[in-house]
Amino acid sequence: MTERLCLVHYHEIGLKGKNRSTFENQLVTNLHRALRGRGVASISRISGHIAVEVEDRRATEELAADIRRVPGVARVSLAYKCGLDESEYCAAAVRALGEAGEFSTFKVHARRSSTNYERHSLEMNQIVGAALCEAFPQKKVDVHHPDVTVIVHVVQGNTFVYAASAPGVGGLPVGTAGKVVTLLSSGFDSPVATWMVGRRGAICVPVHFSGRPMTADTSEWLCQDVVEALAPSGIVGRLYVVPFGERQREISLAVPQGLRIIMYRRVMLQVSERIARLEGAKALVTGESLGQVASQTLENIAAVNEAVEMPVLRPLIGSDKQEIIARAHEIGTYDISCQTAPDCCTLFMPRRPETHARMKEVLEAWESFDHEAMVEDLVKNVEWRDFAQCPSYHAPRGGLREHHTELSPWRGGER
Ligand code: ATP
Ligand code: MG
Repeated sequence: MTERLCLVHYHEIGLKGKNRSTFENQLVTNLHRALRGRGVASISRISGHIAVEVEDRRATEELAADIRRVPGVARVSLAYKCGLDESEYCAAAVRALGEAGEFSTFKVHARRSSTNYERHSLEMNQIVGAALCEAFPQKKVDVHHPDVTVIVHVVQGNTFVYAASAPGVGGLPVGTAGKVVTLLSSGFDSPVATWMVGRRGAICVPVHFSGRPMTADTSEWLCQDVVEALAPSGIVGRLYVVPFGERQREISLAVPQGLRIIMYRRVMLQVSERIARLEGAKALVTGESLGQVASQTLENIAAVNEAVEMPVLRPLIGSDKQEIIARAHEIGTYDISCQTAPDCCTLFMPRRPETHARMKEVLEAWESFDHEAMVEDLVKNVEWRDFAQCPSYHAPRGGLREHHTELSPWRGGER
């Protein structure tokens, strides 16, 4: 019986020279984790592709859709796998072309890899081409600019046949670019920023600052929803939550009104940097976009950035809100971000925030409260929740573990 399987194509990995097998192995590991419980029989590397086979030998569009969300996947084809018998692979080619949607012209592209199959690819092109012309008499062959190309690929005793492929998210397999701590709110921007660095292969450890106990914990649940939505791509290892309400009140009493937000942000970055060091993460990530809101001027970015030594990545710095919203739709966080909840950013807000902070005044305000003790205390009281979908994530040993409780388990509906 001809088998249906998913063939995974990747292109960037091919560019990585000697690292290629590390990257391929990581992608195989990540696919195993992403497809757990989906009846997968094997995931194997075959001649520049990864083949995902299922127990009932009938891979589906749904499986292909799950695979397409995994970083490192450029395209996925729902392919046929058959033997070397030409009537078998011709029949598969007819089925594959029949499923390729609207088209008027086609061509066949036969390839042989590591095989001593007696037929040459030119001969195979002719044999399969003749079968397709017979099955689709209205359609024309166009070898230069066909609407559809039917691929017939012979590899070690098997033939893989497919005509269509759907795009994956691209990027690099998670775990090939180290670890980052991302500052996550439930707004539109930071979930997208998190996803973008995750797509480039970074393991993401989001940190959310909530207004608890001065606000309800709704924003914490929304952030968990965001992470749940991102989970199928396998980019998030653990979510940290920092209850920040009390400390914000202290800051708001100690510093000039206009500089409050900058002080909150400096504390947030320092706490995130401390968590990053415990986690072995090498950079912080925010969802800032230049000039989007008053606090995102170059002066204010500099005033906040000065508080940390670690690089702060801002993948959305040049993006427009429309682009960010479009991406939020694609990655499934849009509806969550539409729900508003007070978090630390809505608490103790000044009526007129400073938009062009001067560093001298920022540093004076910074010295007007005991920020070191505050950061220490906040780090001691972080809470977290682990997410099993990221196979490369390793939790820090020591440091945090002794002091902290896990976030209570998912309480959907109780919010
Ligand atoms: P977002 O849509 O991500 O909430 P924003 O447009 O609301 O961003 P700001 O409020 O200025 O912009 O936040 C800038 C960045 O600071 C956010 O993208 C995020 O990385 C970080 N940040 C904001 N609020 C929080 C929070 N409560 N916890 C953790 N990080 C936060
Ligand atoms: Mg926000």
